[in-house]
Amino acid sequence: MTAAINPPRVRGACPGALVPMEVADGLLVRLRIPGGTLPATTARAVADLTRRHGNGLVDLSQRANLQIRGVTNALLGPLLDALRDLGLVNGDPAAERVRNVLCSPTCGLDPECAPVRPLARALDEALANRPDLWTLPAKFSVVLNGGGRAPLADAVGDIRFDALPGTTLFRVAVGGDQDDAATLGACRADAVAETALTLGRAFLDLSAGRHKRLATLVAAEGTAGLARRVPLAPLPTDIALPGSAPHRLLGRQPAWTGVAFPFGGLHADTLATLAHLTPTLRLTPWRALLLEGDGVDADAIHALGGVLAPDDPRLALSACSGRGACDSGLTDARGDALALAQVAPRLLAGGHIHVSACAKGCAHPAPALVILTARGDQAYDVGLLAPAGGAAQWRGVTPARATSLVAALEAVYTHRMRADEDPAALITRLGGPAAVAALVEATVVA
Ligand code: SF4
Repeated sequence: MTAAINPPRVRGACPGALVPMEVADGLLVRLRIPGGTLPATTARAVADLTRRHGNGLVDLSQRANLQIRGVTNALLGPLLDALRDLGLVNGDPAAERVRNVLCSPTCGLDPECAPVRPLARALDEALANRPDLWTLPAKFSVVLNGGGRAPLADAVGDIRFDALPGTTLFRVAVGGDQDDAATLGACRADAVAETALTLGRAFLDLSAGRHKRLATLVAAEGTAGLARRVPLAPLPTDIALPGSAPHRLLGRQPAWTGVAFPFGGLHADTLATLAHLTPTLRLTPWRALLLEGDGVDADAIHALGGVLAPDDPRLALSACSGRGACDSGLTDARGDALALAQVAPRLLAGGHIHVSACAKGCAHPAPALVILTARGDQAYDVGLLAPAGGAAQWRGVTPARATSLVAALEAVYTHRMRADEDPAALITRLGGPAAVAALVEATVVA
């Protein structure tokens, strides 16, 4: 049977497998993997499908999804049929759209992490079978944070459950990351799925189509209406939630090896090779994979271009998919960003560099230490301490000139930094972006 397919979504919408997004390199097919766990045989099958039906490229998304790129309209149907055979596609686009459940990727590997993976799978299945919730907004999401060594503290969820250390309880909160979310109370593990479904239903009733995220509903109306719908225990006041530490996941760990790829992109051949190094891969919201097992070959991972060191400068870069992969892309943002990593290891150890192929800044909307915003074919505006499309100290420079400027900024930082002073603090101390730009110009000329 051929899977039901909806028309492709426009850019900016939230794609799925049955509602793929049309971008410059073809259709983007996003796979929501229940519990974020991918057996090696499934990963090899996905790699093979990516080669045969896509352009051979896959993305690791920031919501722990896998995205197959470059699918043509003609090959979408056969791809979805094959994905359905693998159990990776639901029957209904509306059901698939709401299956946005993120759980701690270290569950079962880290003894300190609460057992959230079975809860995630149960909730995923419940959402797929509850048509009354299929009208939830496309980006409405649930976070199941098991804590332990790699808590999902920074992950934003409309509904979130944070494991309370030393108990079998979860904090129940809405509309944010661990720090920002509004706490409603606490519940036991066996009540997590039903509590999430009840809160989803309450959101639909209370927002009546006026809000797309729970955070805006709470900002407008508070939490009293939600709290009335769910019977929760009071939150214990003497238990602290652990903070975020995602980079601890990389490299050789007791039960896994964490491997990242610059910008979260890898070739299907790489995915297939990784699947020969481990029995199971885990997807994370940090655009890294966890390879289960304690004997994964680090040399093989390095040969694949994988990043094992948490202080690798490439991890402090962000760049959108750029020209050829996005209709709005004016430049090869990722290639140009990798050139910057070669010349700015110290800047990247203490700051963030962002290369955006247009002014929209999808990959990093916040200000960056250095921002390159494409303004035409092979041209960038370069700014300091600004967001994409924001204030720039240099206009319309070539990628090579931008690399020279960043290399000069690296030299200015290296020679003028004080002990423990990060690059942003140095720029502020020296008088701000305009003053530092003058120093950079003098350094480039010299
Ligand atoms: S920032 Fe990049 S990915 Fe976003 S719209 Fe512009 S070119 Fe496309």
